[in-house]
Amino acid sequence: MFGLMQDSQLLIAGIIRHAARNHAHAEVVSKNVDGSIHRYGYPALEARARRLARALARLNIKATDRVGTLAWNGFRHLELYYGVSGSGAICHTINPRLAPADIAYIVNDAGDRLIFADITFAPLLAAIAEHIKAGVRAIVFMCDPAEMPQMALPAGMDLLCYESLMAESDDDYVWPSFDERNAASLCYTSGTTGRPKGVLYSHRSTVLHAMATNVPDVFGLRAQDRVLPVVPMFHVNAWGTPYSAPMAGASLIMPGRHLDGPSLSALINQEHVTMSAGVPTIWMGLLAHLRSSGERIDTVRRLGVGGSACPRMLMQAFEQEYGVTIVHAWGMSETSPVASANAPTPDSLTLTGEAAWRVRDKQGQALFGIEMKIVGNGGMELPWDGVAQGDLLVRGPWVASGYWGNAAGSACDEDGWFATGDVATIDPSGRMEITDRSKDVIKSGGEWISSITLENIAVEHPDVIEAAIIAARHPKWDERPLLLVVPRAGAEIVPEELLKIYEGKIAKWWLPDAVIVVDELPHTATGKLHKLTLRQKYQDWLTRE
Ligand code: ADP
Repeated sequence: MFGLMQDSQLLIAGIIRHAARNHAHAEVVSKNVDGSIHRYGYPALEARARRLARALARLNIKATDRVGTLAWNGFRHLELYYGVSGSGAICHTINPRLAPADIAYIVNDAGDRLIFADITFAPLLAAIAEHIKAGVRAIVFMCDPAEMPQMALPAGMDLLCYESLMAESDDDYVWPSFDERNAASLCYTSGTTGRPKGVLYSHRSTVLHAMATNVPDVFGLRAQDRVLPVVPMFHVNAWGTPYSAPMAGASLIMPGRHLDGPSLSALINQEHVTMSAGVPTIWMGLLAHLRSSGERIDTVRRLGVGGSACPRMLMQAFEQEYGVTIVHAWGMSETSPVASANAPTPDSLTLTGEAAWRVRDKQGQALFGIEMKIVGNGGMELPWDGVAQGDLLVRGPWVASGYWGNAAGSACDEDGWFATGDVATIDPSGRMEITDRSKDVIKSGGEWISSITLENIAVEHPDVIEAAIIAARHPKWDERPLLLVVPRAGAEIVPEELLKIYEGKIAKWWLPDAVIVVDELPHTATGKLHKLTLRQKYQDWLTRE
């Protein structure tokens, strides 16, 4: 017997309709490409998204057609999020930091019909236009007519202006209703190994993920919050904040292209930001700026940090020096992305000192809706004792079941478990800790050493800006850890001195065998360490003649 409750569909347009109707007070503030500030509220955003949906129909975009975006965080990108998905088409956010050849591959693989782009990406589009002309019918620059870049496009590909299309359109449009399981947006993984793969989110997965991240122990957004998504809208939908903020009635502050410490500090203070989210590298940049300038960010209550392990020193610095709580979360493109977050619990609150910080290092408990487990050889489930390390598997309504172009279910096992490629422990309190990506783990004499633990300790050294641990071949132990560090400007690193930072913090056999000082470390398009490049270059360091 079914319950006697209504069964309305969980659709993305429903989020913006809700915000427009119930939270007209909230602001959407955007820093434009030219540095000027644009401001409006959710009613105007919702009306413009409808106008855009009409314009898309005139451009012959139909349900399930893919519409690409190459854009920073800003109001027009938000309009695309709602106008494209809300009309039943698929909003495909493209990471402009990928190599041009990868971008062309992604556009063709997705079958994008239109590409909406910020004018900063005109040179990039000029470079790849020939390679995407088979499917792309027009490039639409997200600007006023006066700002339109001049460029020649291949025959059959139109050059259009966003604000002209909007002016010619109208908002006489009613959001359609359809099955909540329909595709809403598409985002490619950055592809550190192999070709990028598309993750195809549904309306239902997007709405559920936004609701799940809005609980108090995750991002906990409220109508009084002013949220700054520093994480780009082309990186797993800015972790869902373009949906979770309007759902909560919170204001959105969109930072545009400048994400350096001084720009962020200025925007946070001008706009009284209360909550923000981004990868650790961004916060390291902001911290360095705050410390050197003496500026404060007193309106900020919480920072959501994920994408890479959050170094303990970052949490300590923001909490102790600036009174900002860091919410350490974990996830990946395939999990929408947020799947776990570390929140204080009655037992953790009784801890002090090192024991309390050890708990904070972890990536936390599964969000309601997500199930996690760790497995060892042969897929045997491992105990939640905080010690056993195994492959992390997850499942839930916002976890991918297959990649773009493949069948549903093809990315997970028959019980729906998706192998994350991460290695983790889970403690008796349910707190999961990522120790490595499975391809980065160091196997020394048959035992595993966590590169993330060693990197986090290295960056606690005052002379180290960034650190990477990779596995180097070893004749006796198979692999041993090698530490690469980028020194602070002007600092002289003495390897023996630097390694003292590990004393008392790790088992002796985890100590890196060598330290290599480098000017910079390679990063992927999503800002993570590119360990593959490092391994190719340094894996024979310990066995070299
Ligand atoms: P890609 O998989 O293409 O690199 P994602 O953004 O999907 O891009 O990256 C997901 C991966 O990032 C996870 O599988 C994990 O290895 C890493 N990651 C994300 N958040 C954390 C975190 N809080 N701590 C450690 N690693 C993390």
